[in-house]
Parts: sequence; structure tokens; C-alpha cells
Amino acid sequence: MDLFEYQARDLFEKHGVPVLGGVVATTPEEAGAAAEKLGGGTVVVKAQVKTGGRGKAGGVKLAHSPAEAAEKAGEILGMDIKGHTVHRVMVAAGASIAEEYYVSLLLDRAERRYLAMASVEGGMEIEQLAVERPDALARVAVDPAVGIDAAKAAEIVATAGFDAETGPKVAEVLQQLWTVYHAEDATLVEVNPLVKTADGAIIALDGKVTLDDNAQFRHADHAELEDKAATDPLEAKAKEHDLNYVKLDGEVGIIGNGAGLVMSTLDVVAQAGERHGGVRPANFLDIGGGASAEIMAAGLDVILNDPQVKAVFVNVFGGITACDAVANGIVSALGILGDEATKPLVVRLDGNNVVEGRRILTEAAHPMVTLAETMDGGADRAAELANA
Ligand code: GDP
Ligand code: MN
Repeated sequence: MDLFEYQARDLFEKHGVPVLGGVVATTPEEAGAAAEKLGGGTVVVKAQVKTGGRGKAGGVKLAHSPAEAAEKAGEILGMDIKGHTVHRVMVAAGASIAEEYYVSLLLDRAERRYLAMASVEGGMEIEQLAVERPDALARVAVDPAVGIDAAKAAEIVATAGFDAETGPKVAEVLQQLWTVYHAEDATLVEVNPLVKTADGAIIALDGKVTLDDNAQFRHADHAELEDKAATDPLEAKAKEHDLNYVKLDGEVGIIGNGAGLVMSTLDVVAQAGERHGGVRPANFLDIGGGASAEIMAAGLDVILNDPQVKAVFVNVFGGITACDAVANGIVSALGILGDEATKPLVVRLDGNNVVEGRRILTEAAHPMVTLAETMDGGADRAAELANA
């Protein structure tokens, strides 16, 4: 999960990284009040969107009074930055910048360790710098078991070429950023610019943080950082039920067990769709190994509530969970859904206890259910029904 800048700022503050005051606003009036709250002096009004390059796009503006902050917020709110609409701004206390640096800490998957990057030439041209003069961007490997201790921090600032006065101050901030990275289970912490102010203080003026979703069980408080408004409502519902669901934009709903089988089902349905008016898969949904009636009902509920779905293909290979259990799951799921089960369902079962599974479905004789003998046959029938 990527965080907004204001959320990153809050996390930085929590772990002692030096930041300036910042207040979120969703209207020009709120922005004016926020500037007032920050002392009524110079502030920076910053678009809160999950993309970089806001400065260059006109999404970061200085304001010298609360009235001007309101005016600038009016210009920035509603702006489109690389396809992201600005719904809120952060009004931040203004800093008088002497120098802009760059520091980041990230997961280096290929090398199976962390990587710290730093440059004395930070700011808005960092991407260009990384390409044109890669030497100006220090890259220092970080052992995950050790992290950034005083020695590692000193190595990073020395490699980046910080001077004797600034180096130790930046080294201290690097250790605080390591605390953010480690304690919050981040996969990225980037500060650009990390600035030196006119009076020599080091401050993180911008923050980009990505949290590791796989560590969410350790951080109940991270749930509230989620941008609920931007989450697809069907995906949110699927997440509530712990379903592995991804919304796609076609017409054939897909349910399968095992990521590999579901992926190939998507391919087969897409191919069958070419013979039936170009219909395509509507989603990825893997109900996993233990496909109970409740999970099947939750999955069908999500898929049948997708207004784009015209037909559903259930493609299950019975393994640990045998086909009779899956068939019972489908029957009771349809019972739970009752009148909501209004779209045709094509079911292909194979594997463990398939004969019994098919018998159960045949006997139930639900008007919306069609049994298919093969995966290709089922995909073809589901595509045909979706196109009808
Ligand atoms: P980005 O373009 O999305 O990375 O947004 P940043 O938060 O990095 O802001 C872009 C630029 O605006 C920075 O590189 C700074 O030069 C400038 N800026 C940001 N905050 C302040 C501030 O408080 N005072 C001044 N003078 N400039 C700022
Ligand atoms: Mn930046």
C-alpha cells in the first residue's frame, strides 16, 4: 500500500524524523484555516496524490498568507496530475531551503537485502540525475539483520559525499528513517527533498512510503491508512471475506481454485470470447483449497453483484477439497443467495470425487446451473451465455 505524503509525514513524526507541521484540507476555506493554524506565515500548499512530479505539474505552491493559501488550494484542488484527481491538499509550514538532498531506503528483491540511496543533489531532477550521472547517486547495500546503525549511516553519507558539517546530521536522520522502515514494515521510504534549511537544520520535506501488505497482520493501525474512496467496492467486499479477487472489465465472471487454474481459465475464456462477440473475463477469483459453502457463497455474491457480469464460469479441480464438497458448496451458496442468483452459472468439476460432485448438481437441478464436461467446453458455454 502506497501512502499519501501527509500520511508519510505523520509516520515520520511518530518515529522522530524531523518534519514540519502539515494539515490536510479538502476545500479552500479549510486550507486558509490550516494556514492560520500554522501561524499565518508562509506555507506550501501541496496536492495529495499518489504520484511523483507534483511540483513540476503545478501541484506544489507557496502562499504567504492564509488568504493566499486558500486561493492556491482552490487552484490545486480538482487538478489532474498524471491521471490522479486532487481531492485534498496538505498545507505545510514553509521552509527556507539552502540545499536539497535525496535519500531512500528500499527492498532490493534481486539481491535479497535492503538498499539505501543518497545524493547531495536531490530535488525535482533526481530521475534525470539517476540516468545521466548515476555516480552522483550513492547506492549502499544494507544487511536486513543489522539495518542502518551508526556505522552504516556514516558509510552512506560518506559514499554520497556529504560534507563534514552536514554528514553527521544526515546520518542521524537516516537512522530515524530506518526506524520508520523497520518498525512499520515498509518496502520503500523515500525523502526527496531532504533539505538543509538556512539555519542548518535537516528536515524531510516530502515523503513517499510503501507499506508491505503482507505484514498487515502486525499493524492493525495501518488499516485506517487505506484510501477507501479509491478502492473498487467489489474488491473491498472481496477483501472483507479474505477472497483473492481482482476486478477486470469483461462480462464472464470466473471462480476457480488455485491461482494457476484461475489464470489459465482467464485465458481459455478470453479465447472462447473471440467466438462469442468478444466477451472477456470479468474478474480473477481464487477460492483456494478449502472451498466451503460460505466461501463459495461469498465469491458468488461478489461476482453476481458486478453489474458487468452476464454469466459465470465455475472451474474447480477437486484436490484436498473434493468435488462433492464443492458441489454442496455451490448448492448451498445458491440457496443462501436465493433470488439474487439471476445469472447463468456454468460449472465444470474434475478431480477428486467428481462423479459424486456432478450427481449432487444434477440432482439439485438449479435452473441457472449448467454442467460442463471439459474446461474448454465450459468456457465456450459461459462465453456464449454472456453474449446472449
Ligand atoms: P514532488 O514534486 O511531488 O516530489 O513534490 P515535493 O514535495 O518534493 O515538492 C517539490 C519542490 O517544491 C521541492 O523540491 C522544493 O523545491 C519545493 N518545496 C516543497 N516544500 C517547500 C517549502 O516548504 N519551501 C520552499 N521554499 N520550497 C518547497
Ligand atoms: Mn518530492
